[in-house]
Order: sequence, then C-alpha cells, then structure tokens
Amino acid sequence: MISRRRVKPLATRPRVAIVGANFGGLRAAQELGPEFDVTVFDPSAWFEWLPNIHELVSRAKRPADLRLPRKRLVAAAGHRFVRDAVSAIDAKRGTLTTAGDEVHAFDFCIVAVGGVDATYGVPGVERYAMPFRSVEQCDAIGRRLAALLKGRKARSIVVAGGGFAGVEALGEILRRYRSRDNLALHIVEAGPGLMSGVSPRIDAAVRKHVRAYDVQIHTRSPVAAITPAGVRLQGGKRLRSDLTIWTGGSVAPPLLHAARLAPKPLQWAPVDATLRSRRYGNVFVIGDAAALPAAVPKQAFHALEMGECAAANVRRAAAGRALRRYRPSRTPLLVAFGDLDTFLVAGRSVVANPTLAAGKEAVYQVTMTQIDPPSSVRAIGQLASRVIGVTRRLAPSR
Ligand SMILES: Cc1cc2nc3c(=O)[nH]c(=O)nc-3n(C[C@H](O)[C@H](O)[C@H](O)COP(=O)(O)OP(=O)(O)OC[C@H]3O[C@@H](n4cnc5c(N)ncnc54)[C@H](O)[C@@H]3O)c2cc1C
Repeated sequence: MISRRRVKPLATRPRVAIVGANFGGLRAAQELGPEFDVTVFDPSAWFEWLPNIHELVSRAKRPADLRLPRKRLVAAAGHRFVRDAVSAIDAKRGTLTTAGDEVHAFDFCIVAVGGVDATYGVPGVERYAMPFRSVEQCDAIGRRLAALLKGRKARSIVVAGGGFAGVEALGEILRRYRSRDNLALHIVEAGPGLMSGVSPRIDAAVRKHVRAYDVQIHTRSPVAAITPAGVRLQGGKRLRSDLTIWTGGSVAPPLLHAARLAPKPLQWAPVDATLRSRRYGNVFVIGDAAALPAAVPKQAFHALEMGECAAANVRRAAAGRALRRYRPSRTPLLVAFGDLDTFLVAGRSVVANPTLAAGKEAVYQVTMTQIDPPSSVRAIGQLASRVIGVTRRLAPSR
C-alpha cells in the first residue's frame, strides 16, 4: 500500500493487482508464484461457493459450509490480501484506488469483479425484495422464511425471476416447506417459460413437480413494481407477498465502465481471446465480468479456468512471450430443484434426474477441497465435519 498521490517506484518483481477474489480472482492468485508481487483486493473476508447458495434457503447448508477465509487462502499462495473494494482503476498510469482511499501501483491488473443484480429499473426492487446473490443474502432469506412459517398464518411468497436461480430458490422452499398447507408460492418470469433460454423441458418438468402444491407459475409476466404488499405485474395483476425474492439476473458492476474497461454502463468488459482488455494491454478481465469474442456461459467453472489462463498470460507478458488463447471446456450446468429433481444442462440438451443431486454435491465438495487443500490435521477435521454435516442435512427426512 502507498499513500494517496505518491506512487511506489517499480518493484523488482512485476506487481500484479487482482481485483475481486472469488472464483476467477482467487484462482489467478493461487496460480501466480513468488516471482510476482501480488496484491488481492476484495471487500469481503470470505470466498463464497455461489453455485449452492440456494441451499441456505432450506437450511440444507449453513453459511460456514459455503465460505472459506480469503486472507488465509491468499496468504497460503504467498500473497497480500487487502480487504477493501477497488473504487477506481487508472490503467494508463498503472494505479488503482480503494474505497479506503489507498493508491496501489501495478504492472498488471486482473479484474474479476463478477456481476451485480439487474433490476431493469423496476421500482421497489432494492427496497422491498430480498436479493439472492451472496451467502449473507440467501442465509437472510432462509431465516426470514423460517420466521414467517413458524405459525399457522397463511403466507404468500413470490420468487421474481424464472432463470436458474429462481428455479433453485423455488425448489429449496419446496424442499423444506412443501408439506405446509398455509403456504402459497408464486414464480414470475418475463419470458415464455422457466429457463426458456435453455430448453422447454425444464419448464415442463417443474410444472409437473409442483402440481400437488399451491404453486403458481406466471410466465410472460414482467414485473412492473415491487411494493410493501407484494408484486405488481405489467398486465396489472397483483400478487400478495410476505416475502419477495429477486433473482432477475446480472449486469456489469459500475467499476467496469468507470475504469473505461466497458464502453457503456451495465456492459461487460470486452476482451480478446487471450482475456486481455480490448482497451488496455496491462489489464486482463476474467470470469463473469469479461465479454469474450465468442460468448462463454457465466459459470463458476469458466471463471476458474479463466483465472488460470490470466495468470499464465501475466507470466507470458512479463517474459515478453506471446499470450495464449482461452479455450473454454465444455462444462454442463447442474441446476437443482430442491430434492424433487436436478437438471443437467449441456448447451440446449437437458437431462433430468433427482440422483444428479449427488453430482452437484460432489462438484461442490471436490472443488472446495481443491481451492482449500487440507494442510493440517485440524484442516482435515474441518473438511470432514463439513462433509458429514452437509450429508446429514441433505439426507431425506424419514
Ligand atoms: C445464485 C447463483 C447461483 C449460481 N449457480 C451456479 C451453478 O450452479 N454453477 C455455476 O457454474 N455457476 C453458477 N453461478 C454463477 C457463478 O457463481 C459465477 O459464474 C461465478 O461466481 C463467477 O466468478 P467470478 O470470479 O467472475 O465472480 P464472482 O464469483 O461474482 O466474484 C466477484 C468478486 O469480486 C468482488 N468485487 C466486486 N466488486 C469489487 C470491487 N470493486 N473491488 C474489489 N472486489 C470486488 C466481489 O466481492 C466478489 O468476491 C451462480 C451464480 C449465482 C449468483
């Protein structure tokens, strides 16, 4: 760290700033060795395993199951962690500024800031809906649901957004509360079906599963407003809601445009096939934040792969060698529908089977262990208790 306005002279080792330390950023940090002077920035203390955060809604997982301490992981890779948001990047000067007003100089910057909630300008989203994007938010939803459904009073819950996150949220509410006769559920989607961008099979399967319960699926129904009383749809229909969960998808964080990495607000940062910013040669943009020449699905596995590729390209650029292209692997997406079903999505093909839930759980356990390999008896004990605890809570109740 250096004081504001005074930029540290060039270090002997190339200085790498990594902005954002979840999938992409953390993997890049873990791939860079001691030949680089690496500083990693993130406002949150925890790496978060987002693909399973829906399970916090049913309490099948607890926050501790899905979090790892960033400071320890970054230190284990031999680097510095600064727990602060980056508020500005000046790629031309090779400096960034944190929210705490510290200025840091870099030779290379890897930007891995992910996305933020898309609200489409719908009034009331920030004020009256609960967001569904982080461990803290999904845990808050799980606690609110538990409090609402403690008594016998009739309750109505609306999930706004019928993409994969909305389907997963609905599934988790059903996993835990489907036996309740005082619960009405709604899922609202602007498009023609749930996850309609993928395949009509998912919509059909979900409709079949929810037939026995008080669940209404509203498609071709864009949300007009969220109010304290509920959700108003564009056609004028009103849905009473005690809890509205917002799963409206992602847009780019303001930093990308402010740093001139994206041409317009809300747009992802264009990069070439090597993940290098189209605008600045010393900046790589990876994970959800990157707009590649050929679109890559915004998935955790791709962010991890891009972290590896960006680290390799920083090494190459520092050595004056040609950069390598990022070649995404074909990775299916596993979408859970509580304990009722799991969908394996590969391109536009879908396979549905509840037993695939074990596959999603295995990906989570194995990748968490790769990110944080146990290096002591205590760490092995912690890993074992995570696996045992989660297995118990996921087991169907008898
Ligand atoms: C609800 C949900 C369910 C999902 N399910 C799946 C799934 O089943 N399978 C799958 O493959 N993918 C899934 N995804 C997508 C997956 O989580 C993302 O593709 C992945 O997290 C992208 O990784 P990333 O590193 O690019 O960004 P993120 O994981 O979003 O991390 C971005 C990091 O940047 C930090 N940051 C942001 N702004 C700043 C700043 N200004 N300064 C410093 N740090 C900053 C944030 O704090 C965060 O830690 C899901 C996403 C969500 C939200």
